[in-house]
Amino acid sequence: MVSNQKQNRSGGRLNSAIFSVAAVALTGVIWILGWLPPMERTTGDLLVRASTSGDASEVPVVVILIDDKAVERYGPLPWSRDRIAKIVVSITASGARAIALDLILAEVTDSEADQALAEALVRVPVVIAAAFDRDGAWLLPCEALGGASDAAHAYGEVGPDGVVRTISATKQGHGLSLPALSLAAARFLKPELAIEPGAELRPEFQPAPQHIPYLSAASVLDGSYDPKEIAGRVAFVGISATGAGDQFVVPTGPRHAPVPGVLAHASATLSIAQDRLLRIPNPWWSLASALLLAIGIQLIRDRRGAFDLAAFATVSVGLVLLAMAAVRFSLLLIPVTSLLTVAVVSALLRETAESRSAWRESGHLLKAVLEHVGAKPSTVPRTAAGRLDALRRLQDRVLEEDATRRTLLADMDEGVVLWDVNGEIVLANPAAERLWGGAPELSEMTQSSDATEPLVLTRGPRHLAVGLTDLGSGHLAILRDISAERTLEKRRQEMQRLVSHELKTPLASIAGFGENLERYELSADEQRRVASLIRGEAQRLQEMVTVFLDLEQLGGGHWDGAIEAVDLGRLVATRLEVLDAAAGARQITIKPSIGDGCRVQAVPALLDRVVDNLVGNAVKYTLSGDTIEVDVSRSSNQVHLVVRDHGPGIPEDGLARVFDRFYRVPGTEVVGAGLGLALVREVVDWHGGCITIESEIGVGSAFTVSLPAIEEV
Ligand code: ADP
Repeated sequence: MVSNQKQNRSGGRLNSAIFSVAAVALTGVIWILGWLPPMERTTGDLLVRASTSGDASEVPVVVILIDDKAVERYGPLPWSRDRIAKIVVSITASGARAIALDLILAEVTDSEADQALAEALVRVPVVIAAAFDRDGAWLLPCEALGGASDAAHAYGEVGPDGVVRTISATKQGHGLSLPALSLAAARFLKPELAIEPGAELRPEFQPAPQHIPYLSAASVLDGSYDPKEIAGRVAFVGISATGAGDQFVVPTGPRHAPVPGVLAHASATLSIAQDRLLRIPNPWWSLASALLLAIGIQLIRDRRGAFDLAAFATVSVGLVLLAMAAVRFSLLLIPVTSLLTVAVVSALLRETAESRSAWRESGHLLKAVLEHVGAKPSTVPRTAAGRLDALRRLQDRVLEEDATRRTLLADMDEGVVLWDVNGEIVLANPAAERLWGGAPELSEMTQSSDATEPLVLTRGPRHLAVGLTDLGSGHLAILRDISAERTLEKRRQEMQRLVSHELKTPLASIAGFGENLERYELSADEQRRVASLIRGEAQRLQEMVTVFLDLEQLGGGHWDGAIEAVDLGRLVATRLEVLDAAAGARQITIKPSIGDGCRVQAVPALLDRVVDNLVGNAVKYTLSGDTIEVDVSRSSNQVHLVVRDHGPGIPEDGLARVFDRFYRVPGTEVVGAGLGLALVREVVDWHGGCITIESEIGVGSAFTVSLPAIEEV
């Protein structure tokens, strides 16, 4: 069992590893097919936009834009170099830290104008844009403006989607390598900046180009600006007039709209100077984290047993938050889309594989069940809808069978109870609840299970035979009411006892006396004595049999005598007249006390037997010369008969048993059969009354019979 589990677990781990590697490989294929890179670029841009904020108010750059307003006021482009010179002079005078001219000034123009600009440019650190011509040769600033010495390229690397995300630190052409304009400008802000030649820079473009502070060249030329806006800053000069100058789309620019190149350069310059350059994580690290993620997904699946949307939502939100945090703290661009794809593919592969094997397995199961119940046709449908249909038909059948079973159980006389392994009731038919008097607890059955074999439990007046079976998956109990069988058995034993013990002795005496008469010549007196003894024994037998038959009849609940209103006081008085004779023979005095209105509904002949037995016992067991008190009285709704003697009393343990048939207190010498009090109780019960005894050894006994009184009108 244990080794089996181990095998399963290691098998599961192997599966997880296979699914994880497959998920990463499949994601790689999707990447190679070219579906992921565009999404990756979009999510990268979103992350940069969402995770960084550029404060544009205090940045150390300013842009002088030759915009539509300037063109309108000072004429169309290209502008003459002495006008550019005026702008340079003006911003130099305003205290610019350096100037970046995003203007291609390659051709030689008016020599005076060129000279004026050249003179203006020597007063301040400067960098001037260069570009390639159609043949791939550099269009450098003309010799008068310094040629290649202060030149920098003004390119951004345009991605497949037309967005510029990277800038080459240097560009090579015809044996000349020029730094990027933004990099050269950034060095004015941070001279110690060290960047590998040929490196691909990924500026964060923060603050976004559209937030870079700028002035119109018109206001610089007419002097209507505040020099403080330029003082201490690197001043870019470039074109934004409609239809002129270069335009870039950058990730942080207005969505999908190009921005003037000079603004993009200024934005890139700030990012480079502040070392806000995004980094793409090492591909091996990305691969490793993709693998880890795929394994993580498999582990979640192992734990939960199935995938839910919540698990995916957690993974996705987690990844995005991680990526945002990474961009904010280390400017790392996590490939979120690819990682999410790995997660989804990892989950999908697992789900697909498992649902395929579940489909196969459920087919086998369904086939086995269909064959088991003999359904036609027993072949498993190939479609999900067909299987659903087969399952519905099976369900109908199960429900029908269940209903039949329930009806059978409900109609049974035996109680049936089923408990699950935890001892919770799964099923209890009405007979079980009726016999037990509520829902049976398993513990009540098992506690006393080793008492007798088969187990018999007593619940109230009932004796229940309990058959308890351990099913492994729970317990089943069958309860059978054996009270009637028990009563019959008791009656049979009593009858046996009557015949074998009580009748045998008097019959033996009668036989003995008869033999004497037969064998011996007896005198007439002796013959009379023997005959009298035979009559006495026969009378005793007759009484015993009568009492026993009466008891049987009462115990079975049947009595033929008619019930009528009886005055118990009068009945007792009448019986005492007869009983007085027997008492008088033993010098015993009976003291009656008879109250009025002691009327009950009863069979008079039966009440006679009660009085005869109670008073007869008192006389029988009391010493000569004693008194017996017999009281008849009435309380609010009952009539009481009390017979009190001053005889030997009844021991404690005998009190509970004197009403049992054939019970006699051990050591009782006076002749008797032990049936009188049994008959008394049976009669009292039959009339809906009760009988109690108070007795003390050596002091005497008092028997109290209480019967329901008839309402006096
Ligand atoms: P029986 O008197 O024929 O033995 P009963 O059923 O009348 O049978 O009485 C059962 C037993 O109860 C008697 O054998 C006797 O031991 C005891 N008993 C009954 N009545 C008295 C009594 N008044 N005083 C003492 N013992 C009594």
